[in-house]
Amino acid sequence: MRMESSVKDYDIMTQEQRQFLSDSWPGVMNWNVSMAEYCTLKAGGEAEALAVVSSHRELEKLVGWLGEQKIAWRVIGRGSNILVTSSGFRGVLIILGNEFSSVISRECSTEGVILVNAGAGCSVSRLVGWCTQQSLSGLEFMSGIPGSVGGALRMNAGAWGKEIGEYVESVFFVDTEGTFHNVPGSEIDFSYRRMIPRNKHLKNGIITGAEFSLPIGHQRDIFEKCRENQALRREKQPLGVPSAGSFFRNPEGDSAGRLIEAAGLKGMKKGNAMVSPKHANFIVNTGEATADDIVGLMNEIRQRVFEFSGIMLEPEVHVL
Ligand SMILES: Cc1cc2nc3c(=O)[nH]c(=O)nc-3n(C[C@H](O)[C@H](O)[C@H](O)COP(=O)(O)OP(=O)(O)OC[C@H]3O[C@@H](n4cnc5c(N)ncnc54)[C@H](O)[C@@H]3O)c2cc1C
Repeated sequence: MRMESSVKDYDIMTQEQRQFLSDSWPGVMNWNVSMAEYCTLKAGGEAEALAVVSSHRELEKLVGWLGEQKIAWRVIGRGSNILVTSSGFRGVLIILGNEFSSVISRECSTEGVILVNAGAGCSVSRLVGWCTQQSLSGLEFMSGIPGSVGGALRMNAGAWGKEIGEYVESVFFVDTEGTFHNVPGSEIDFSYRRMIPRNKHLKNGIITGAEFSLPIGHQRDIFEKCRENQALRREKQPLGVPSAGSFFRNPEGDSAGRLIEAAGLKGMKKGNAMVSPKHANFIVNTGEATADDIVGLMNEIRQRVFEFSGIMLEPEVHVL
């Protein structure tokens, strides 16, 4: 299984580096942060540091300095598709704040279409609500997905047969050296829960926002569609308990939930992590589950589904 982090290659920050960041960083920098507070699974190890970056200038400066110092970093969104292991994240996790939360629109040369520019730090629910208010259709399928615009783009989030990549006109990145890029959608490969810019330089880049091309629709229809989608979620998914949504990727031609259920694993527990009895592809935190409980259950599911079906499930959740 591919771990989503390269941080294990980095050393813990030196006292001098910590002191420098504490003294010179103008924004919010928290130390030894329990990631349970920042993930929808409500579990996870500690991040050595967590920075909230409120402007492009701050972002470029921080990333540039961390790169020079060879300190690991990673941008996260609303934590609805990540799990930090019990050994924690060595380095700085970055959350995009203020300047990355705006939503604005402009005319498009195609009649009946509007270009919507949304910051990566904006929540998906705010973007969908804003589009509904403006009578812009297309993103109704995102209604109920609990992440940020940046996380949704990175994951090519999708539901009900649609994916966010279908509506992208361009994506804005800051590369690992701190340089800004505006990349047309045609230069980005969107596939099932993946987004890969063709420019290899941007593979680990930070998404700072995107422009979406959305047709003008009827407000009442858009609103109704969002409501329907939310009702379907309530019917099929365990929404009252902490989770990260679908935990495993669907294998080609099959569904992870079907395989887990067929292997008889609904309701299986490891500590306080449980395979949801309502939707087998959801691992839920029934109380004070630890990251070890969740990783342990994930491994057990993979093993048992493999023995049952010959298929090794791959996590959709990024384990950092
Ligand atoms: C109840 C529930 C239902 C869900 N339903 C769906 C669904 O229907 N469809 C679906 O696709 N997903 C679903 N999810 C999963 C999740 O909400 C999406 O994957 C979401 O898009 C993740 O966004 P986030 O901001 O929380 O990202 P995070 O979980 O914080 O991060 C996910 C990944 O993206 C990276 N990342 C985040 N922001 C940036 C950025 N600005 N630049 C570069 N990389 C970045 C992170 O490093 C990490 O690797 C669901 C989750 C829950 C809890």
